Amino acid sequence: MKTRLYLYDTTLRDGQQTQDVQFSTDEKHQIARALDALGVDYIEGGWPGANPTDNAFFDAAPKTTAKLTAFGMTKRLGISAQNDDVLAAVMNAGTKSVCLVGKTHEFHVTRALGITLDENLSLLRDSIAHLTASGREALFDAEHFFDGYKANPDYALSCLKTVLDAGARWIVLCDTNGGTLPAEVGRITAEVIAAGIPGEKLGIHTHDDTNNAVACTLAAVDAGARQIQGTLNGLGERCGNANLTALIPILLLKEPYASRFETGISQKALKSLTRTSRMLDEILNRVPQKQAAFVGASAFAHKAGLHASAIAKDPSTYEHIEPATVGNARIIPMSNQAGQSNLRSRLTDAGLKVAKGDPALAQILEEVKAREAIGYAYDTAQASFELLAREALGQMPDLFEVKRYRVTVERRKNKYDKMVTVSEAVVVIKVDGEKRLSVSESMDEDGNDRGPVNALSKALAKDLGQYSALIEDMRLIDFKVRITQGGTEAVTRVIIDSEDGQGNRWSTVGVSANIVDASFEALLDAIRWKLIRDLKG
Ligand SMILES: [Zn+2]
Repeated sequence: MKTRLYLYDTTLRDGQQTQDVQFSTDEKHQIARALDALGVDYIEGGWPGANPTDNAFFDAAPKTTAKLTAFGMTKRLGISAQNDDVLAAVMNAGTKSVCLVGKTHEFHVTRALGITLDENLSLLRDSIAHLTASGREALFDAEHFFDGYKANPDYALSCLKTVLDAGARWIVLCDTNGGTLPAEVGRITAEVIAAGIPGEKLGIHTHDDTNNAVACTLAAVDAGARQIQGTLNGLGERCGNANLTALIPILLLKEPYASRFETGISQKALKSLTRTSRMLDEILNRVPQKQAAFVGASAFAHKAGLHASAIAKDPSTYEHIEPATVGNARIIPMSNQAGQSNLRSRLTDAGLKVAKGDPALAQILEEVKAREAIGYAYDTAQASFELLAREALGQMPDLFEVKRYRVTVERRKNKYDKMVTVSEAVVVIKVDGEKRLSVSESMDEDGNDRGPVNALSKALAKDLGQYSALIEDMRLIDFKVRITQGGTEAVTRVIIDSEDGQGNRWSTVGVSANIVDASFEALLDAIRWKLIRDLKG
């Protein structure tokens, strides 16, 4: 019989404490759906009442199998739990599970809260009792627990016993400052269990300030804790939280965890881990960390010639797991035969059939390599990759040709005597054997400037001759700009995500020293891909 471990994700709450991270409500919903598909047990959605996007998230909460959990703090002194408006806002989110953070470190009780140790115990007791009396599953985050236990073990333990007696389902030991090392986390967790707090009710919440958050989490599990808190990609305050993207495959694939424990995550869902990790980076407009364990692009990249040739004979020679189990892919030198078979499967995905050993394969690999060296990225821009491959395979239809384009940006007074910025784009294309010139401005119907790329996009779409009708349902849904290294120079890389009325979504890439030029290239690819797709079907 395997023991069940419960995974508690706090990407949307603690993860949002990362510097420069602020999720929109839509993004929070998207992340929650991805976490649910992965199979975590709890999704902490945020702190209702503390943050407007958290309120909006819970107001239109996605339907999930995972228990959506609202986070908050224990009630304040001098008000009853029923009358505490901060706690009421948390309860009003209406989640079945509620997690409240409270003090267990005497220094923080007397210093930060300025109340007596007994008064703190009464806050903990009343708050947790209020949750259970309201029929909620109660979780208690024991803030600064490890530091508090080292300072005064009796008091820290009496806090835990108080919330246990008040009906807490989970008591989560938090290493809030992230400075505790694995051996100490293991020892203290074992002592907590020996003192009468059952391991089946204990959770662990660690931070990565010494690069040990995952190791500390495992030490707590070894000692008997059964709930694991963490975030996708290790997002979180300061150096981040325990990284679920590493912990999940460890628990499912590595011993002794794989034989001793089970989680809510299936081997099938594990295959979506890399995709889920990259999706979060995509939302944050971050470069995915190449060397991330399990999900990084370099996690199964074999550069050394000796490794590569051994890998070709048997991948287990230089890999600790099969990359596909976590949805990642092996990367081997381009010239290698195995590199070609990877490429063939990518082409097949794009609907392009190429025979084994076709010389075009080596040519495509060379082209991809050369373009990536000057700043292109084809990991996400699958549509641009497909166009590149079509070109090399001689399967690129003649659609239209851009003869020239021009964009001007002007700052001027409008008819209301207000200073405005207006861009104007002129595009000349040759289609159906004829030259056509289109002009567009960057103003939308409400008179707002949408910028030069918008003007260009409108001019380009204005008259594509016989193809005009095909791109009518096409829409630009995201536009990401990144400065990257192209050869020895810094260049601008633009990634555009497009969508059409049939529910297709595709990404294209453009690179140039000039942002407008890079955008234009990505726009052109987006239109070409759409036309090829529609003309085929
Ligand atoms: Zn935390």
